[in-house]
Amino acid sequence: MPSYSESTQPDEPLAAGHSKVDHPVAISEMLFFDIDGVITEPVTGEVEPEVVNEIVAILERGEPVAFNTGRGLIWVLRDILPHFEARISKRSILSRLCIVYQKGAFQVTFDEKGEQEKPVVAPGIALLPNSLREEVLQLITTKYSETMFPGEEKEALLSPQFKPGADFAQYKADQAKLVDELQAMLQRYGLDDQFRVDATRIATDIEDRHLGKALGAQRVLEWLKEQGFQPKYFITFGDSKSDVDMAEEIFRQGFPVELVFVGEKGQLQGMQLPFPVSFTQAFCEKGTIEYLKNRSHKGSF
Ligand SMILES: [Mg+2]
Repeated sequence: MPSYSESTQPDEPLAAGHSKVDHPVAISEMLFFDIDGVITEPVTGEVEPEVVNEIVAILERGEPVAFNTGRGLIWVLRDILPHFEARISKRSILSRLCIVYQKGAFQVTFDEKGEQEKPVVAPGIALLPNSLREEVLQLITTKYSETMFPGEEKEALLSPQFKPGADFAQYKADQAKLVDELQAMLQRYGLDDQFRVDATRIATDIEDRHLGKALGAQRVLEWLKEQGFQPKYFITFGDSKSDVDMAEEIFRQGFPVELVFVGEKGQLQGMQLPFPVSFTQAFCEKGTIEYLKNRSHKGSF
């Protein structure tokens, strides 16, 4: 387990622009959020304002927050970030936010003025060949058009999505068939060693096997180190089984971590996890609020 030297009080607001690397900052808690179904309502995609307020309060204290999403940057910048921008006191607050998207393939942060920096790609990630990409898109727009749409454009993965308004049970049945077809397709292309199919609650991802919430967590941990933030305790929020990887990676690296699971509990059935898991009464974004409003701080503030 890493040891930290405290150089500032955890509840002391940090000056914007402080030199983080030569001035390590111990913080009591570091929160990692999946976005879909954790900050947003999973079907309508609406952002939950109370979750935004809780996250903004952390950023305003000068403490870091991370988003670890499978979605793409265009969606994050168009549908998510403006809700935060509308509530922060000044743009420089965004320099404490680390956004990892497309399952760890890319990371974007903000400079001391709050201006968005250039996205950084994870080294060694393979992209899908265009021919396979086109074949998958054709399958979605013909055979599965009732319950799915191709989803947002992503450089690192294909991610056909649940079509809003479609029957959810029918979608899950279609998704199971699609998974088999995609696996057969990868074999036909001889790419099944390099890529995998990952069925989540509202999407079916075809992606490099290195991608995932664990890669996302690794990248956030690297960012924290670069910034000089030294969290004593990590709390990760997720609503899908794949989100467990985020907490597992943090645990694997020797940090104390807790998973707050706001999805259907059954998804974690039979999993023996070596760290605490908190379930909420309410689901998804309402579960996130429930936890944030009732949590007991593990740290000293
Ligand atoms: Mg989610």
